[in-house]
Amino acid sequence: MYPRIPDHVQTLSPYVPGKPIEETQREFKLKKVIKLASNENPLGPSPKALAAYKAAAKSLNLYPDASAFELKQSLSKLLKLPAEWFLIGNGSNEIMDLLMRAYYEPGDSMVTSQAAFVAYQVCAHVLGVKPIETPMTPDFRFDLKAMLEQIHQDDSVKYVFIANPNNPTGTWVTEEELDYFMQEVAKIRGGSVIVALDYAYWEYVTDRRIPDPMKYLKLYSNVVILRTFSKIYGIAGLRLGYAMARPELLAPVQKVRQPFNVSLPALAAAKAALTDKAFVKRAQTLNQQGLKFWMTGLRKLGIPFLPSQGNFLLVNVKEGLGLSGGEVFIMGLKKGVIFRPVTNYGLPGFLRISMGTMAENKMALKVLQGMR
Ligand code: PMP
Repeated sequence: MYPRIPDHVQTLSPYVPGKPIEETQREFKLKKVIKLASNENPLGPSPKALAAYKAAAKSLNLYPDASAFELKQSLSKLLKLPAEWFLIGNGSNEIMDLLMRAYYEPGDSMVTSQAAFVAYQVCAHVLGVKPIETPMTPDFRFDLKAMLEQIHQDDSVKYVFIANPNNPTGTWVTEEELDYFMQEVAKIRGGSVIVALDYAYWEYVTDRRIPDPMKYLKLYSNVVILRTFSKIYGIAGLRLGYAMARPELLAPVQKVRQPFNVSLPALAAAKAALTDKAFVKRAQTLNQQGLKFWMTGLRKLGIPFLPSQGNFLLVNVKEGLGLSGGEVFIMGLKKGVIFRPVTNYGLPGFLRISMGTMAENKMALKVLQGMR
C-alpha cells in the first residue's frame, strides 16, 4: 500500500516530448527517420562545445563547480551584467521549477497564456500552484492586456510567464505591448509579481519589433529572463539553461537549487559554445533559409501557417489538408518524418514543424504534399 496520491499530482498531465527517432525506426521498421519535432538544432552541437565536452571527459571523477564560476564569468562578459545576476540550471525548464519553488506558498497562482509553452503549467501544477491561462488574441498571440487584467483582479497571482516568441505558436509580443505591460505590473502589489520572460528562441529572432529583454532587467526589479543552450548552440542533450535577474530575486532560488544541478561536461560545453560565433551564424542562416523554404512550399500547397520568430512553424493542417494534427503526425511517421502534434495545447487542427537541414525540409515537405 502506497500513500494517497495528492490531487494536484493525480490530475497532472505530464509533458509529452517529441517522439524519438530510434523508437520510430523500431515501430515502423524504417531505416531512415528524420525528426522535426523538438525544435532542436539540425546542424548538431556547436563544434566548439563538442570539443570542450570531450576534453571535460577526463575530469568526470570530479563534481562540477557548484557555483558555475567560469560559465558565469563568460556570460557576464558577453551580456555585460555582473556574474551575481546569473543562475545556471539543468535546462531552462529546471529554472522555471526552481523559481516557483523558491517563492511558493499555498494558494499561489501563475498566469500565462492559452497555448503558452506547456512547461510553465506542468511546473506550477507539480507544486500545487494554480495555473491560469488567459485567452490568446484572434491572431494566436499572448494577450498582455488580458493577462494584466487577471493579475490586477486576482491577489493570488505571484508569477507570470511570457514566452517571446512563444512555442508552439511562434508568435510574439511587441516592444510597445511589453513596455506597457511591465510598467503596469510594476504598479501592482508593490511590484512583487514576478515576470519571467522566456527568450529561449532569442538568437533566431529577426523581427525588430521584439524587444531585447535586457532593458527590463535594468528598469524593473521583478523580472527574470530565461535563456537556453538547447536551441542555437545545439546542446539540448546536455541540459543547460540560465536565468538573469537581480541577485536579491535570485537569492532564494539559489537556496532551493541542488548544488550539482548542472553536470561538469555541460558547463564546459556551454562556456565553449558562447565563443562559437561562426556556428551561431550558420544556424541562424540555415533557419532563415528553412523558414523561407517552408513558407513558400506551404503557400503553394495552400496550407496556412502562423508567422514565426522561432526555429519552427505552426501549420494549420485542418484547413490546409482537412486532417487533424494527430492524423498528419501518424501519416508522417509511416513515411519516416516525425512532426509534432499540438493537441495537448488545445490546437488539434495544427502541427508544429521544426526547421531541419535543407535536405530534411525537402523530404518532409514532399511527405506533406503526398497527403493532399
Ligand atoms: N522555453 C521554451 C519556450 C521552449 O520552447 C523550450 C524548449 N522546448 C524551453 C524553454 C526549454 O528549454 P531547455 O531545454 O533549456 O529546458
